[in-house]
Formats: sequence, structure tokens, C-alpha cells
Amino acid sequence: MIFKSTRGQAPEKNLSGAVIQGIASDKGLYVPIEFPQLDKSWAEYAAMDYKTLATEVLRPYLGEFTEEELKACIDGAYTDKFEADDVVPLVHAGGADFLELYHGPTAAFKDMALALMPYLMTTALAKEHEDKTVCILVSTSGDTGMAALKGFEDVPGTCIIVFFPDHAVSPVQEQQMRTATGSNTYVTSIFGNFDDAQTTQKAILNDKPFGEEMGAIGYRFSAANSMNVGRLLPQVAYYVWAYAQMVKKGRVEAGKPINICVPSGNFGNILSAYYAKQMGVPVNKLICGSNKNNVLTDFFKTGVYDARRAFYVTNSPSMDIIISSNLERLLYHLGGCDDAAVRGMMDKLAADKCYEATDAIKAGLSEFAAGFATEEEILEAIGDIYKSDHYLMDTHTAVGYKVWRDYVKETDDDTPAVIASTASPYKFAAAVSGAIGLPAAEDEFAAIDALSKASGVRVPYGLKDLRSRPILHSGAIAREDMKDFVRETIRGRK
Ligand SMILES: *Cc1c(COP(=O)(O)O)cnc(C)c1O
Repeated sequence: MIFKSTRGQAPEKNLSGAVIQGIASDKGLYVPIEFPQLDKSWAEYAAMDYKTLATEVLRPYLGEFTEEELKACIDGAYTDKFEADDVVPLVHAGGADFLELYHGPTAAFKDMALALMPYLMTTALAKEHEDKTVCILVSTSGDTGMAALKGFEDVPGTCIIVFFPDHAVSPVQEQQMRTATGSNTYVTSIFGNFDDAQTTQKAILNDKPFGEEMGAIGYRFSAANSMNVGRLLPQVAYYVWAYAQMVKKGRVEAGKPINICVPSGNFGNILSAYYAKQMGVPVNKLICGSNKNNVLTDFFKTGVYDARRAFYVTNSPSMDIIISSNLERLLYHLGGCDDAAVRGMMDKLAADKCYEATDAIKAGLSEFAAGFATEEEILEAIGDIYKSDHYLMDTHTAVGYKVWRDYVKETDDDTPAVIASTASPYKFAAAVSGAIGLPAAEDEFAAIDALSKASGVRVPYGLKDLRSRPILHSGAIAREDMKDFVRETIRGRK
């Protein structure tokens, strides 16, 4: 399978090359030139376990891997690090089916891709005879950071540097990252928001002289953000899985459509659902949920992407994003692979913080619906479903639930719905426990204990005794110093 840049001016790659490269040299994002079609019956997919199904979905994208290599990657990724019987349970509550993607080592859906990506990366490195150490740069709104640190911890031939916005991630997320172990892991906060971190990170990745300087001492860069196509493809597998499970449980007749609602930030997760649809999963609407940072809601309603707006820090911090990088891939696909049009829109975004989609793209937007939830509405949704079904969900998942309910109210569309459940409620325990009526706890960590006592739901192992782990990464730097931090970190390694 060949992967091309959305901006059309970078060399084509196979998946191995695209995963190592991270972001294309013309600043575009790698996309597959076609979508392989699912070629088995739903009865067959429904009978598979998660690993077998993921292998089926990924194989056509990875022609350069042998069957043994692919299987070794998937077996290495989805071990009992995932604390659920089938890796990804589908749980019926509140009239919808929640695809619980958060049972991995860091208790958020990012684990699904970041458990697999290091295996894809190291297999690819060996195939391409790369002798440089790959330095993975990550900017995170919270959950990617820890999932990437866990995924790449002590992986030979790699090191990882994570930047997160100071005081803009949850206390649990911050404690996870600052206590991350591994001899190849580096973490600092930056004074700025997520968009600042991501923009500067992209600039470092595109800085040719700096790349050469680090190349001379044996390093090359890559990205573990969802701009890396190696993040997206593992996620496609769980949407195929979701549909197969819906069939298996009798919630949908094989071949009939479902709706999929995804709480979105950088647009990577919902884009994977779009890819699954292109591969043949019957989907009626893809519903994009946002929090108060609702630039995507406006985009889907008007076709205009307008980033000239206030930025809010909310109780669903992993979705506090104004520049949704992966939307670029959707523009490319909906626009009929018109890379010149994508370049035009992205240039406008960089210059004016605003662009209007082309008519071809606008016509495709009807495959999507969109809505948003305020912080109060998020808490209300958590309280409602806990009361009605004793189901505990986190603040991000609650965005999805609320937006889906609004969509049903507006449209009367009774298509069976899958809601992507993106984080454990314990990752945002103070907000969740408040929402179900518990008294305010002393801090986030006490809230975890109180929530577990009240609900009886087990605390994920990745969040247990977090408070007592030693701080290993205490840094906080100016955004302008990110490049120097990278240089000094690499030069300081033995
Ligand atoms: C990252 C994240 C999101 C947003 O996912 P995108 O792929 O960036 O759209 C939503 N919820 C949680 C808990 C996350 O960690």
C-alpha cells in the first residue's frame, strides 16, 4: 500500500516509511491512496477475537510486513496490559453502546494505538536498515503523552520527548507523566497551551538544519501524535470490531447501518471511524462531539473553519484544541484527493487562522453530524446515566453521550449508536464524583478513592498508588525553548 502526503509535494512511502517519517516533508500528513475493502462476512468477523480481527484489518496496509511480523506486532501490543476480557468491551447503557477503549496501561483510548505503534516502528526501522536512534517528539493535551511514554518505554533504538501545557492537563495526567519511568523517556511542561506545543513541535520536525545537526550525532525525529498515520490505522481496527460486536450481540442486523459518535479534539479518533466506513463498515452518520472549544461543530455546520476564537480550559482537557490537525486528512479525502486545494486551505489557516472548505468538500460533510457540550451539560450527562443505569463515564465520553442525545432529539434518527468511550472515569475523578453527587474530595487522588468506594467500579492498575510515585521529570520551560530542550536532551544522552 502506498501512502501520499495530503499536500502532494513529498515522496510517497509505504507504511513503514510513513511511520518512521511521522509528518511528511511538505508539512502534509500521510494518507493511504486507497481503502482496502473488508472481504469477510460479518459472521466471520464476529467470531474473531480482538487480535485476529485487528490483524485482518491492518494486513492490507502493511504489505511490506510478513504475516509473522504483523502477528508479532499485534501479539506484543494487546497483551494482558489491557485489563478487559476482549481488549475492547462494548457496554450497553443509556440507550447506546459504549465502546470502552480505555482498559490499557494509561486508562485512555490512546493506548490502543500507542501500544502497537512502537512495534510497527521498530519492525519498520529494521526493514529500512535505519541505524539512527529515532527520537519521538510528542505534544500532548494530556492523554497522548503518557500513552506514548508507556508505549516507547525502553524500546531499543528510540527515545521519546513529551511536551505538555503547564497547568492545563488534569492532576492525574500530570502526575502520570512526571513520574514516567524508562531510560529513554523525557518530559517537560511548557508555558503555553496545546496548540502552542503542537505548532512548535511541528516546526522542530520541519526544521531541516536542526534535523541535519541532530543527524550528525546519530538521531532522527519522528512524531507519535495522531499526525503519524501509524496512530490512525490501529484505531480503524476497533471500529470494525465495534460493528462486529454489535452484530454478535444482536444489536444490529449484519449489513444494516449504525451511527458512531466520537468525542473529538485533534480529529484522529473519528477519522479512524471514517476510514472504517470507507473499508466497508455500514455507518449512517459519524457524529463529532466537541466541548466548549467547538470549532469543529461550527465547521461541520458551515464549512468554514474559523480558529479566531477564545481558547477554554475545560473539564474535558484532552479535547481542548482549536487546530484539529487530522481534519486535513478528511479535507483531502472528501475533496477527491485534491492536494492543491488542501495546500490552499492550510496556507490560509496558517496566515489568517481561517479557511472555507471547497464545494466538493462541503458536499461530503453531510456524512457527519456535529454538536457540543458545555461543562455543566457534561456533568449533567454523567449524573443522568449513573442514576439511570449505574454506568460510570468520564467527562470526554460524556461529551459524546450528550451530543448523541441531542442529535437523536433533533433528528429522530433511531439507528443503533456506538459511542467511543475514550477515558476511564478515574482519570477525571474529581469532576466525575462531583457529577454523581459525592462531596468534594481533598484532591484528585482522594477523589479516585471516594469514587471507587461509592461506585464499586475497579480502579485501573495504571492509576493505582499514583500519588506516591517519585517525580522524575520536574521541568517547565518557555515555548521558545522547546528546540533547545530537544538539543540538550539528545546531547546529554550517553
Ligand atoms: C485524545 C482524546 C480525545 C480526542 O481524540 P482525538 O483523536 O484527538 O480527536 C478524546 N478523549 C480523550 C479522553 C482523549 O484522550
